[in-house]
Amino acid sequence: MTINSVSVKQVTFGKQPAIVIAGPCSIESEEHIFKEAQALKAAGVDMIRAGAYKPRTSPHAFQGLGFEGVKYLRAAADSVHLPMVTEVLSEYDVEKLIDLVDMFQVGSRNMYNYQLLKLLGQAGKPVLLKRGFSATLKEWEMAGQYLMSEGKASVVYCERGIRSFQDETRNTLDLAGAILLQAKTKQPVIIDPSHASGRRDLILPLSKAALAANISGVMIEVHHNPDQAWTDAAQTIDYSLLDQLMKECQPWLTSN
Ligand code: PEP
Ligand code: MN
Repeated sequence: MTINSVSVKQVTFGKQPAIVIAGPCSIESEEHIFKEAQALKAAGVDMIRAGAYKPRTSPHAFQGLGFEGVKYLRAAADSVHLPMVTEVLSEYDVEKLIDLVDMFQVGSRNMYNYQLLKLLGQAGKPVLLKRGFSATLKEWEMAGQYLMSEGKASVVYCERGIRSFQDETRNTLDLAGAILLQAKTKQPVIIDPSHASGRRDLILPLSKAALAANISGVMIEVHHNPDQAWTDAAQTIDYSLLDQLMKECQPWLTSN
């Protein structure tokens, strides 16, 4: 089955090999993101993720470094020649961020924000569209259509877990849904096992399962000192686990 390619600088989604996006949940300081970028490059990942505008459940929790954070991420990604993706929370920020980011991330909570989707559709940068945690496949697919029907955006869909009755993981990874959506839309679909499970010990097996099923990539939260990560510590892996993941996923991460 041929999947439409989506290119972000030197990275191409939708072709072999599969793509690994990794990085901390949040940018904590300039020094922090430079240090993570160095380690991510050494680990051999394709692209860096890190949040500057954080959609937190509590308004009292750390909200991210905002625009300054995106500037730090830009410089850190450039220092190791890797492309980056970061979340845009509001349509008010699109213009400000457009020349700084390589790919816009639309978060789960914003999947239904049609004004933001339309604006990003006109902006002309690739978009990583996370699935709303209560969204049906059809709603997720249509959110991507909002982006693509404006004619300029290319879309990579990201399954990040949906809400279910199961309460021992943060969310429930809908791998079947991810596979179906990729077959139906022919757009690349990746999974985010970090937000899907909320648990470090599930990142490796979920990544392998998805890559074995021909999913186009994974996005993983990594930190030098996961226990000290300012956000999402419980699901953030360290570099030794990332190395193990890169090794065990080799069959899907090298072209053949
Ligand atoms: C994220 O990836 O940084 C994030 C906030 O994820 P989600 O929108 O899926 O909750
Ligand atoms: Mn996170």
